[in-house]
Amino acid sequence: MAVGTYLLARAVERPLSALIRRTRLVGAGQLDDLPEHPSRGSSEIAAAAAAFDDVVGNLRLLEGKVRALASCAFDDPVLDQQLPGPLGEELARSVRVLSGSIHDRSELQDRLAHQATHDGLTGLPNRVAAIESLANRIARGRRRGHLVAVAFIDLDGFTRINDTYGHDAGDAVLRCVADRLGEASRDVDVVARLGGDEYLVVFEEVSDVHAALTAARRIAERVAEPIRHGGRTLRVGASIGLAFAQDGADEPLELLAKAEIAVHRARLADEPVALFDEAQQEALRRRTAIEAALRDELAAGGPNLELHYQPIIRAADQSLRGFEALIRWSGPDGALIPPAEFIGVAEASPLVVQLDRWVLTTALAQLAAWHRHPALAHVDLSVNVSGRHVLSRDFAPHVRDALASVDVSPERLIIEVTETVLLDDLIVAVENLEEVRAMGIRVAVDDFGTGYTSLAHLRRLPMDELKIDRSFLSDLGQPQNRDLVRTVNELARHVGVPTVAEGIETAEQYAILREIGCDDVQGYLFGRPMPAADTAGWWTRHQAAVRDDDGVPAPTASR
Ligand code: C2E
Ligand code: MG
Ligand code: MG
Repeated sequence: MAVGTYLLARAVERPLSALIRRTRLVGAGQLDDLPEHPSRGSSEIAAAAAAFDDVVGNLRLLEGKVRALASCAFDDPVLDQQLPGPLGEELARSVRVLSGSIHDRSELQDRLAHQATHDGLTGLPNRVAAIESLANRIARGRRRGHLVAVAFIDLDGFTRINDTYGHDAGDAVLRCVADRLGEASRDVDVVARLGGDEYLVVFEEVSDVHAALTAARRIAERVAEPIRHGGRTLRVGASIGLAFAQDGADEPLELLAKAEIAVHRARLADEPVALFDEAQQEALRRRTAIEAALRDELAAGGPNLELHYQPIIRAADQSLRGFEALIRWSGPDGALIPPAEFIGVAEASPLVVQLDRWVLTTALAQLAAWHRHPALAHVDLSVNVSGRHVLSRDFAPHVRDALASVDVSPERLIIEVTETVLLDDLIVAVENLEEVRAMGIRVAVDDFGTGYTSLAHLRRLPMDELKIDRSFLSDLGQPQNRDLVRTVNELARHVGVPTVAEGIETAEQYAILREIGCDDVQGYLFGRPMPAADTAGWWTRHQAAVRDDDGVPAPTASR
């Protein structure tokens, strides 16, 4: 009995419990380090163990497949080995579906990455990619001591093609230019589309400035060749600005900005290619500094801004009609910045609207103060406004707001707008100025003669006064200049508005302008722009001078 039990244990129980142990381990997901099969046992147990090994083998194959899929190793041979039966088929199908969708997704990712860095129309790298490539080229140029040149290419005449022949023609031109830029530059050069009709070519390794100029001129010539599209011959030109990364010191955006500035130079000089130069760089630096300082100044409420007031005089009897407000700004270092300079900078940004509002409010407060002053209660006030503001939708509401905050009659306010601004967008300017005229405010056309207003336009201008530009008065001794001023004055009579002659410095000029018949005069002869506090004193002195000098004052000593 004991021997029988012993034999049974050897033949059945031990191998069976070993098999159970292995099964448990596999059930717990541990395919590695399975214990050995017992060497002996009944034939049934041996068959069960062999079948079990097959299962383990298949599971190992499955594990291999999952690993390959997880690491996107679609060419791993393990994926080609099929597991037996319906499970194997199902698994093979799933692997196909899964690998297909993973493949599609990575293709989509590649496509999106391409789209994010390329221009859809021309297939060229876009602005983002161009700036990145430019940064790389600058860095490489610095390491290797190469000169890197940037050519900013702006098309001439593109808008006209787009407007006249439609967007299809426009697109065809943009694509053709892209191809030509590629043909006209070397493989190492970066060619990109920055947007609109602007392109960029980065010349790596140019030997010198002359070589870059030659390459840019070749590009301009190639772009200017006729383009055939839809049975038509289209033509565009290229204005190219060149800038160089000197010693690799420039930032990509800075270099791009310099090249763009050089484009304006090319246009002004009517040349296909122009170089960015240091004077321009200095001007750019100054502009940027002025803009930043002005932004801070206005944000702080304008503590260093001040209005000076220049008298406007009746030509006939030298009585005081009013004052023109002229802005003064002592910049961050305390030095006075001429308005011609910072107003130009402000005009290029929305800052100028803020500046105009400050001027309007401050000047109107001064006008209210004069109206309480016994000697100056009759004066009116002229305020310059910028073109950008006049053409904005907010212009009339801003004027209305400023007027609402003070107790002055709108008839005492004159808005000065330069002639060139009116011509920029006559329809909008007329509309907005008519709106302020409807409030009772007068409009003066400033610097008249600097634009090219035709008589037909002159009739349409919403104006109550015409200011003859100072440049005409510089040499009134010349008969032709005198005739010119006479003609302008007659023109004003013709449309029924009074004239103001600006910039009178000598008694001779004054005499001639009186003879011509200008209504009002303004200039250093009568009074320079002065702080508000000086105006009453100036007026007293001026009246005395007129009495003493029999109507013709000596140039005033006021500032
Ligand atoms: P503008 O409106 O034509 O002003 C007349 C300019 O001529 C002033 O220069 C004035 O100082 C100057 N001027 C007056 N009489 C004489 C003279 O007898 N001889 C000479 N040589 N110059 C004379 P300013 O103050 O430098 O202003 C220049 C321009 O800046 C102004 O020309 C105006 O267009 C603009 N501006 C001035 N203040 C403002 C402002 O508050 N807002 C805006 N938007 N523009 C302003
Ligand atoms: Mg003016
Ligand atoms: Mg003027």
